[in-house]
Amino acid sequence: MNKTIKLALHGGVPARSRPLPPNFPGAVVMGTEEIEAAKRVIEAQSPFRYYGAQPQYAVRQLEQQIAGTIGVPYVLGISSGTAALIAALRAISIGYGDKVIVPANTFVATAGAVICCNAVPVFADIDDTLNISPEALEHAIDDEVKAVIVVPILGVPCDMDPIMEVARRYNIRVIEDVAQSCGVTYKGSYQGTIGDMGTFSFQMNKIITAGEGGAVMTRNAAWFERAVRYHDQGAFREKQWYGIDSIDEESEFAGQNYRMSDIIGGIMLEQWNKLQGLIVNMRRTHHDIRQMLTNQLPELQLRRSPDEAGDLGSNLGIILPDSVVANRFIEALHAENIQGHVLYRGQPIYKLPRIFEQRTVEKDNFPFNYPFRNPVRYRDGMCPNAESLIPRTVFVPISPILKPIDGEEIAEGIYKVFRAICSGNA
Ligand SMILES: *Cc1c(COP(=O)(O)O)cnc(C)c1O
Repeated sequence: MNKTIKLALHGGVPARSRPLPPNFPGAVVMGTEEIEAAKRVIEAQSPFRYYGAQPQYAVRQLEQQIAGTIGVPYVLGISSGTAALIAALRAISIGYGDKVIVPANTFVATAGAVICCNAVPVFADIDDTLNISPEALEHAIDDEVKAVIVVPILGVPCDMDPIMEVARRYNIRVIEDVAQSCGVTYKGSYQGTIGDMGTFSFQMNKIITAGEGGAVMTRNAAWFERAVRYHDQGAFREKQWYGIDSIDEESEFAGQNYRMSDIIGGIMLEQWNKLQGLIVNMRRTHHDIRQMLTNQLPELQLRRSPDEAGDLGSNLGIILPDSVVANRFIEALHAENIQGHVLYRGQPIYKLPRIFEQRTVEKDNFPFNYPFRNPVRYRDGMCPNAESLIPRTVFVPISPILKPIDGEEIAEGIYKVFRAICSGNA
């Protein structure tokens, strides 16, 4: 490293001669396996998961495969990560009059799913893991809070031991929104299996993908049945197959349609089979880059993980002194042919005007006008760590198809840029 320190931004030789591959980990390894899987379903003329001329039951196979890998009895394939969250919230009976805690650093869907269930999101601050802080979680709880959705952002697990301890002490439910971190583990357990319910997304930007799709997972048969029924018009078509049917006729309810197509199921089964290989590769590159950087730049602050062994390695998080430095850092990295970005336009999710101003699709902005004993209002400065950390944490995506040389070049580029911008050598 450190052959040339002159930034590409200032006319130096870029650390990489070519741009990195696009940041779609699952999509960039799509190939004949996915083509064959989709083809089988189409040739059988049976793209619906439950019946057809010759149903292939690809969604059911996907569910079984996921359940076996992550070690839970019940997995439901569903139309999206957002649908997965809504079904999980409905499974545990979240509805009007309830509050659900959501981390300040997450994609808007986490809050949107809560609102869709007529409940109100309460935002909790993050810490230097960029995930929810267990202390902030405890502070956000009042007696109208029924659940928390924790979100392992970009491949780093949440600190589940203290989170579960707080949740059990206050008797609130825990949903793990693992949309961005499919396959991430915490102390040897897959995230999504530690709390009460877990969810994945298979949208294009996520770790594995069929363009759209998602999954719900739980160990609880009654909640699973409620999720299945909610996602399929109130029906539970395969109850014999699961050997469960805990709901009597009086407690049946009207549902929606969030079903997964069997074509998506077939593609996702192949993507699921590739997941461990992707993780091995991302972890290796991530580890190599970290190693090189921490040796050469001990002053560089990297995002903390509560369990490094469980990290996916899908992104490297670099915490810089402020947002001005972060933006210069990103610009200089781009010139080196290395991508970098801050999350969510550099703001906690509650700063989005439609969330901040509590606007919903309802005429009267229900559920925000629900007469809570302790009404929910959002304000600037509400989650100071999130407001400080999000705009100055630069994420560098680590593709699963990088070679060792790519890792070296990324480390060299980060080294150059950090030395030039943060060590006063520009
Ligand atoms: C992408 C994402 C979702 C929503 O997933 P979709 O499949 O796009 O509906 C939910 N939560 C988080 C944290 C996400 O990143």
